[in-house]
Amino acid sequence: MSRLHASDHVIVVGAGLAGWRFVEALRREGYDGALTLIGDEAHAPYDRPPLSKQVLAGKWSVDQTTLATDERLAKAQVTLRLGTPAINLDVATTTVHLADGTLVAGTHVVIATGTRARRLPFRASDRIHTVRSRDDVAFLNHDLAVLEPKSVVAVIGGGFIGAEVATALRTRGFTPIVLEAAERPLVNVLGPEVSSWLANLPATADVELRNGQRILDVVETDDGFIVSFADGGELAPRVVIVGAGALTNDEWLATSGLTIDNGVVVNEHLLATENVGAIGDVARFEWANVAGTELVRIEHWQIANDHAGSLAHYWMTGQSPTALLVPYFWSDQYGKKIQMLGHPRATDDVTRVSGGDEEAKWVALYSRDGIVTGVVTLGQPRALMLSKVLLETPTSLDRALANAPWSS
Ligand SMILES: Cc1cc2nc3c(=O)[nH]c(=O)nc-3n(C[C@H](O)[C@H](O)[C@H](O)COP(=O)(O)OP(=O)(O)OC[C@H]3O[C@@H](n4cnc5c(N)ncnc54)[C@H](O)[C@@H]3O)c2cc1C
Repeated sequence: MSRLHASDHVIVVGAGLAGWRFVEALRREGYDGALTLIGDEAHAPYDRPPLSKQVLAGKWSVDQTTLATDERLAKAQVTLRLGTPAINLDVATTTVHLADGTLVAGTHVVIATGTRARRLPFRASDRIHTVRSRDDVAFLNHDLAVLEPKSVVAVIGGGFIGAEVATALRTRGFTPIVLEAAERPLVNVLGPEVSSWLANLPATADVELRNGQRILDVVETDDGFIVSFADGGELAPRVVIVGAGALTNDEWLATSGLTIDNGVVVNEHLLATENVGAIGDVARFEWANVAGTELVRIEHWQIANDHAGSLAHYWMTGQSPTALLVPYFWSDQYGKKIQMLGHPRATDDVTRVSGGDEEAKWVALYSRDGIVTGVVTLGQPRALMLSKVLLETPTSLDRALANAPWSS
């Protein structure tokens, strides 16, 4: 493993959170060679979580999401190539081909092209909104601006993004109706117990949730849309927004020879080859955790940050962090904060260790084969952080229950 030198040129493809944090981390590590950051969006790197929260609720301007301010950009000494997608990577020569016909040749390449919102194949697809980028939110706000108060907005998908969007719309005086395909939102992510504890949250925030919805089509009308359902029913919202998960932005690497399989497959050091790494939402990485080692792709803000720091450190020193990476996620929805540590599966066993049925606060431990794999809390940020210790080394459920760190 060669360390980076001033004569190197590191190219970062994807000017999102992971790409930008990598640039900052590499400079912090002392790298003083050339750095180029390539992004297909016209904007300098910005933060996405506020888009579905503060920005859509009208509390923040979209400019407040900017990460790479002019001052930080100047400090980072990075060459920006914005508004042009990368369309190919020559791995042997570490050369990136851009859609405008130019080539950027370097010595190392970081793939940080993230994910994009999944679109659904309805007839009105082009007019149906998603919330992934600054431009998405600007487009959505443009359509919301002409609506009367209480106008019905259909939110297709009751997962994390759908719930946050519905919460923001309700705050603004609209009438969001969440259309969820499953029997309950998040049942496939958090499992049957925890999803059932969350089932009443929308009602507490005066948001209508309809579960088990089979949507056949969405068509545009003169003043909105008609959503038609398999049971023959219809809904006529003024605006439709889809929150149906994300797809990896890895098609541009199709002929690169890298292993692409639900993301760019990388090793425990986040490397696809010695000089090509992948980080953030697009990276499918070997993750050592309390239950063993598995190949995962995790769409969390904190993972993008951690990956950026880890790869920068590895390329500068030849070392990766020795501590286990404990994924962290949060979501602000229906006036509550859901937080998660670890990477629990919907099929894991769940033990609620604090909070009763009717309480709006609880702590849930997830375990697999008797080992704690995750902690999910509602409205209990301190308990969540105190529980992190359970995921830093393998901890049996019995020991966790005996020590009860969340109650300290
Ligand atoms: C609305 C919203 C709310 C969220 N809220 C939370 C939250 O509450 N908690 C949490 O933990 N996480 C949240 N997340 C997830 C978090 O924002 C992501 O995990 C994080 O943005 C991942 O960063 P990334 O840099 O890997 O990918 P991205 O942020 O997707 O950045 C990738 C960039 O690469 C660009 N790109 C793609 N293809 C190319 C190409 N070929 N050439 C050049 N550039 C390209 C993309 O356009 C994008 O600008 C949220 C995400 C969204 C969208």
